[in-house]
Amino acid sequence: MENKNMGMCKDCGEVYSALIMKDGYCSGCKPEIFTERELKNIKEQGIKEETTKEVKKEETTKEVKKDFKEEAKKGKYNFYIGLAVVLGIATYFVSSALSLPKDEVVKNIASQYGVGSYSSRTKASKIDIIDHYKKEGKVVYILGIEKLICEMPMLEVKGKWTSLGMDCK
Ligand SMILES: [Zn+2]
Repeated sequence: MENKNMGMCKDCGEVYSALIMKDGYCSGCKPEIFTERELKNIKEQGIKEETTKEVKKEETTKEVKKDFKEEAKKGKYNFYIGLAVVLGIATYFVSSALSLPKDEVVKNIASQYGVGSYSSRTKASKIDIIDHYKKEGKVVYILGIEKLICEMPMLEVKGKWTSLGMDCK
């Protein structure tokens, strides 16, 4: 710190501003070597120093408060970034969970089963997609083929849709 302007009293060992010392002594230890005017100045100087210290303290407090605000701001940003990441991941999972095969893919796969009057294959154009629902990680398609209602569970494996059979009633 301001070592240049500081001095240690030869008597009490306290460190004072060199401005309020004389011959290496503070006014407290050797008031006799100080003139009355000097003592008065020292008193005033001392008050000034105290005031400066107070101001410095206040400034430090302000700095700390500012730092705290900055940190809080940063924290808020981090929170929003975290939230965005979480939402991104959630969106990814929801969208992948909601991903469905295209109608033509469903019909094409369904056509591999012989249903009704079709003994081996069903014409894709004769298949109506009525509805679908999810069950145990599979998408079950409800299909109308001629006068039958068929259920065909489907599963996406490595990006490719496959059926797990067909049940018609
Ligand atoms: Zn002293």
